[in-house]
Amino acid sequence: MPELPEVETVRRGLEPAMEGARFDKVDVHRGDLRWPLPKDFAQRLRGKTVTGLGRRAKYLLADLSSGDVLLMHLGMSGSFHVFRNAGGDKPLGRYHHERARHATHDHVVFHMSSGAIVTFNDPRRFGFMKIVARGKLDAEPLLRRLGPEPLGKGFDAGMLARACKGKKTSLKAALSDQIVVAGLGNIYVCEALHRARLSPKRAAATIATRKGEANDRAERLVDGIKAVLNDAIKAGGSSLRDHKRTDGDLGLFQHHFRVYDREGARCPTPGCPGTIKRVLQNGRSTFYCPVCQK
Ligand SMILES: [Zn+2]
Repeated sequence: MPELPEVETVRRGLEPAMEGARFDKVDVHRGDLRWPLPKDFAQRLRGKTVTGLGRRAKYLLADLSSGDVLLMHLGMSGSFHVFRNAGGDKPLGRYHHERARHATHDHVVFHMSSGAIVTFNDPRRFGFMKIVARGKLDAEPLLRRLGPEPLGKGFDAGMLARACKGKKTSLKAALSDQIVVAGLGNIYVCEALHRARLSPKRAAATIATRKGEANDRAERLVDGIKAVLNDAIKAGGSSLRDHKRTDGDLGLFQHHFRVYDREGARCPTPGCPGTIKRVLQNGRSTFYCPVCQK
């Protein structure tokens, strides 16, 4: 499932194709995504300009000149692909051939005035698109209860400590809670805790003083969260450039994780003799090093 860094990478890949461009034509091949697309979906986009392409947690938000916002989510298997319009002498060539294999899953196609053709491909159809009036965005149920953006300026140790104050649940559970911090999934929670050298089983309240102020653990944890996300976005950015050079594909990319899915491997912390262990927390796998994560 795409996590926040993948979604941010997709946003950056779509930006040059969509921002400032108009929807010339919108094809809906299948409207039954996780939720059905509204009947007037194509009509509400056609002729409108994307004034900005933003992200909130794992949602992409395209601001439209009409005052609407196009909300997009990749779900489990969604991806966007950007193709250059053939426009005469430039044949699509192997781009076309490449995507022909998956074209049955190209559910929505945007023909942009920038000359880009943006396809939304989703074999499992857990992704979705929704059009919301800008003024009603704060009341949107999908966004309303989201906590702070982990890469936002306001997210710091003090804020995280206040959110964890008095919480008897584990740090793993607290960080996975979208109200505490938005957009962190299983992978990056495990990775951030390893970087912060904190056990995923530790009680969340222990990153705060009794008054709810941040202690050293909260500082380390926020640094770990930001570092792991920024590194992943940076890695995504480089894979994005490679993709563009080859087939214009903005799909998913692989990272090198330090603990995630590395059960039995040596802990990568310098000088640590530990071995990565897998445990179940709330039915989900947690990977961590019992030696250096306390
Ligand atoms: Zn270790």
